[in-house]
Amino acid sequence: MTRPIRVEIFVDAIRHNYLFAKQKAPQSRAWAVVKADAYGHGVRRVAAALADVADGFALLNIEDAIALRAMGIAAPIMLLEGPFDAGEVKTMAEHRLSGAVHGVHQLPWLAAAPGPVEVWPKVNSGMNRLGFRPAELAGVLAELAAMPQVRIGAVMTHFATADDTAGVEEQWATFEPLLRGLGLPVSAANSAALWDFPATHCDWVRPGICLYGCSPFADRLGAELGLKAAMRLSADVIAVQTLAAGEAVGYGRRFIADKPMRIGIVACGYADGYPRVAGNGTPVAVDGVPSGLVGRVSMDMLAVDLSDLPAAGVGSTVELWGPNVPIETVAASAGTIGYELMCAIAPRVPRVYP
Ligand code: PLP
Repeated sequence: MTRPIRVEIFVDAIRHNYLFAKQKAPQSRAWAVVKADAYGHGVRRVAAALADVADGFALLNIEDAIALRAMGIAAPIMLLEGPFDAGEVKTMAEHRLSGAVHGVHQLPWLAAAPGPVEVWPKVNSGMNRLGFRPAELAGVLAELAAMPQVRIGAVMTHFATADDTAGVEEQWATFEPLLRGLGLPVSAANSAALWDFPATHCDWVRPGICLYGCSPFADRLGAELGLKAAMRLSADVIAVQTLAAGEAVGYGRRFIADKPMRIGIVACGYADGYPRVAGNGTPVAVDGVPSGLVGRVSMDMLAVDLSDLPAAGVGSTVELWGPNVPIETVAASAGTIGYELMCAIAPRVPRVYP
């Protein structure tokens, strides 16, 4: 028998979420952000599910971009970190890929482009990760305009604190004045800005996390935003332990029963991508019924409380996150964000597309 763990990906939910997100900015086009293997959901499957509705796909690896073209995807594809070398500019021209241009080191590569390429100049409006300083933008645009093979798609920026009003307003106040008189399309909003900062919608929005049903906000769940969870990580109970009061569970004796208890041992551990730091009480659903984690997560197993679930036993299915267990609550319990959990599912966990 194979180890009873799997991650189900609901591409219909992703399609719903994309179309729902687009309604938030009806005047804008929307890149479906599918970097990091579509946040762990499988870039090809996700692109196939969105092929007839997405305005474009944004990602990082040129190999993924080529794979989407090979699938017959004709929509725009953008490399969010741009070309990493001159060879990638050649590939961009061959496969009609757009790419961010964020540093002067990329300009000579673009000047030598062997065919037409579209670039998206990126402004560093305060995140200080990628992009030109505001004062550099005009000069960069002039340099790009002098390159016969290069066309400008849109001027873009990225928010560091999209779930924090003051942070976005500050970055927007830096970015927006630069755009006046340029006559170029603009792209700024990620999922959080798409929801909460309509002024930033402009020509292209760039929703990522919301496509996968997870909220970008610390204080609101995806379901509260109208999103559908697109990933369910689940594993089965492979053993049951009956504890007397005072007995402990797992490494480090991190949980000690204060009464007689039934504990289910589940075939999922941190080597599968479940966070080791998730604490006692982190929510799970056993055959659809809410319960919680007990003790420390091991490499290949974790333990859940079955005391109030007399019908549960070996073979019961435990949802670790998904439609019944918001990934945001598991992430909060582990001191991280849904983004990280989705991307960290280990290759050994079979992906199922029901
Ligand atoms: N745009 C850029 C440049 C990004 O790096 C990302 C992701 O971090 C996104 C858009 C999508 O952001 P989110 O997943 O928060 O919607």
